Amino acid sequence: MAAIELLNQPDFRRRLDQCIHCGLCLPACPTYAVNQLETDSPRGRIALMRAAAEGRIELEGAFEEHVELCLGCRACETACPSGVQYGLLLETARAALAQVKQRSNRKRVAEFLQQIGLRNLLPYRRRLRLLARGVWLYQCLGLPRLARWILPRLPSALTTMEGMIPPIDLNFLDLSQPAPALAPRRGKVAFFVGCVQDAFLAGVNRATVRVLQHNGYEVHFPRAQTCCNAAALHSGDVEFARMLARRNIDAFAEGDFEAILTNAGGCGAALKGYEHLLADEPAYMSKARAFVSKVKDINEFLADHLHHPPTGYVQARVVYVDSCHLRHGQKVVGPPRALLRAIPGVELVELQQPDMCCGSAGIYNLLQPEMANQVLDAKMADVRAANANIIATANTGCYLQMVYGVKRAGLNATVTHVVELLERAYHP
Ligand code: SF4
Ligand code: SF4
Repeated sequence: MAAIELLNQPDFRRRLDQCIHCGLCLPACPTYAVNQLETDSPRGRIALMRAAAEGRIELEGAFEEHVELCLGCRACETACPSGVQYGLLLETARAALAQVKQRSNRKRVAEFLQQIGLRNLLPYRRRLRLLARGVWLYQCLGLPRLARWILPRLPSALTTMEGMIPPIDLNFLDLSQPAPALAPRRGKVAFFVGCVQDAFLAGVNRATVRVLQHNGYEVHFPRAQTCCNAAALHSGDVEFARMLARRNIDAFAEGDFEAILTNAGGCGAALKGYEHLLADEPAYMSKARAFVSKVKDINEFLADHLHHPPTGYVQARVVYVDSCHLRHGQKVVGPPRALLRAIPGVELVELQQPDMCCGSAGIYNLLQPEMANQVLDAKMADVRAANANIIATANTGCYLQMVYGVKRAGLNATVTHVVELLERAYHP
């Protein structure tokens, strides 16, 4: 579909018209907080989308610049009294931008690299694990010190990427057979292992499975599962996103699982979006609905199914950093906090602005490093004020962004996932 046709689909125009221009979303928007420009606010971007749909402005220029600077954090959706589905508006706007051919050479190169990552890396677990082994070697050889000397002289996206790399753990999750229940059996669940999470945060996946086992669940890993599609959607590649969605729906169809669980807020929001994404494909409509009805974030699931709470003591002052796609996209706010409070010894402290993005937003921090760093610095100032020794998250991108934020702000704090802390309390 041509760009202008995408922007004139009835659903898109109806969603635009839901905006009553009240401006209540402006204080929630991180890019507006940094730039104080109407065009970098949700209301301003919606006005640009309407102008582009009506042919009053070109897609190249202001529309492209301000839509690309949006983090897609969806904090504006939570703030909006009129129920504007901004995330869906942004998806369509980015799909329209992807149709625009006249890009600068620099953008073409960036998009080419992005496409290689999306199509030739993220959907392939073996390639990602191989890459993780390479990064492990790089860390073992002490090259990060050399990189820290060289990188300030190179583009800031590379500095960000290097800073985000956590210590690599090569003890990948064994996906060859189901993990048995380690307590009286309560049921059978499927685990969505993710792509970056599986290769670069193996400890988070192992902890997720162990906590489920401790609570009586047999955990299955359907073999044909692939990348969720969040990165493809963020870059406007809707057709590829649909293909990944179909593959995952088919992969999880067998097995009669009680739930399909993910430990990454970004992946969960994408998986829960399959019904909308495939709404005009009759062969997949009902399959997508059945799939989505079973998808749960691990925090959401465990908050209701913590049959055997941990008894070990973990003495820590913990600040929880919300994932935007968990908080605003899935409206999961209380469960991770409830799980952290269930750990004996944990003192949970809140941020002043828990609803603000950390600047990760998929690969936004690599594509828009200047804005991402400003958003991150504001977040780290809030984290510093919490005076915690552990920063807990529930999303891959936020985890890696916090690893970078801690280094950038010079904080003495450890980054962890909620389930890692929970699992630690089963083995004090
Ligand atoms: S998604 Fe986030 S960055 Fe984008 S307009 Fe909404 S609040 Fe602002
Ligand atoms: S809060 Fe909602 S209705 Fe008001 S300006 Fe923002 S998007 Fe429009």
